[in-house]
Amino acid sequence: MKTFLFLPLLSALLMLSAQAQHVLKPMPAKQWFSNYQVYLKQAATVNNSADSHYQLGQWAWSNGLEDEAWEQWILALRIDPDHVATRKSTGFSRENSGDRWARAGEINPDWIRALEIDNRALSLNITIEDDADADFLSEYQWRLRRLNWFIWQITEGQIYIKDIHIQDKTQGSPDSSIHRIVIPKGQLNIPVMKGGGALCKNSGRPNWQVISGGRCYVRILAHEICHGLFGVPDERHGCYCLMQGGLYGIKTQDLVLCDDHSHRPAPSTPDSCWAIILKRYPGIKHPNTEKFGRVPETKFTVLDN
Ligand SMILES: [Zn+2]
Ligand SMILES: [Zn+2]
Repeated sequence: MKTFLFLPLLSALLMLSAQAQHVLKPMPAKQWFSNYQVYLKQAATVNNSADSHYQLGQWAWSNGLEDEAWEQWILALRIDPDHVATRKSTGFSRENSGDRWARAGEINPDWIRALEIDNRALSLNITIEDDADADFLSEYQWRLRRLNWFIWQITEGQIYIKDIHIQDKTQGSPDSSIHRIVIPKGQLNIPVMKGGGALCKNSGRPNWQVISGGRCYVRILAHEICHGLFGVPDERHGCYCLMQGGLYGIKTQDLVLCDDHSHRPAPSTPDSCWAIILKRYPGIKHPNTEKFGRVPETKFTVLDN
């Protein structure tokens, strides 16, 4: 009985560190799906107040629903950009006790300059074929901000997304060497559960391109971008790795790629993901022992046609 008393404190601590490091609570897929159904019902009836959206976000996060938690936190911040609890959950605190909200840690300007020189500060063009409204575009930018944080964590501070150009109502087939993410017609608001996932074409080639639903989970986007940038294959042989895919981080709670210590070789995937990356990018290290600091936030330009 004694341990019971410690559980709330322990789980609160676990959740704090979880959100800072994007670690999801592991759970069986069946339980995840049932949580998702509960979430849909709650999201349909939640009060439109910052507190209520925040509370539902907390519930979603602690039940393995990462992107759903963010959906609610973003709604809370839309109502009250200074909602302190939501800021905390999304990893922000007041910078130097001032007015600006920033994520933890300091940017290392020398390190960032070195990445830029080595072409590891990415510029992405994103094409939306449908007409996207302001609400969609603001929520979508939050997904892409998170994508930048995820890529930074996955690459141990060695690649980030410097800027993103988004354009909607585009016509004609987008050139895959320029348009890195495409949301095709009719896919703008399709949830992942209804087919709004993503795939990567031309994996590892200069003209890689991710085809995605507009509400695709950020972990899936990060997985597809790793296909594109590094040419790492899907893995189905039990590596603890983002590239094994599976359900939205349920199998891989951390944002990590397998290395020669953790990789389980199979005929279709003889090499670990890190071994493939190190071969392709001689400037990248694993583990990266440099003090790389916080990732700069992505700059957006949006052409809302
Ligand atoms: Zn792997
Ligand atoms: Zn592996």
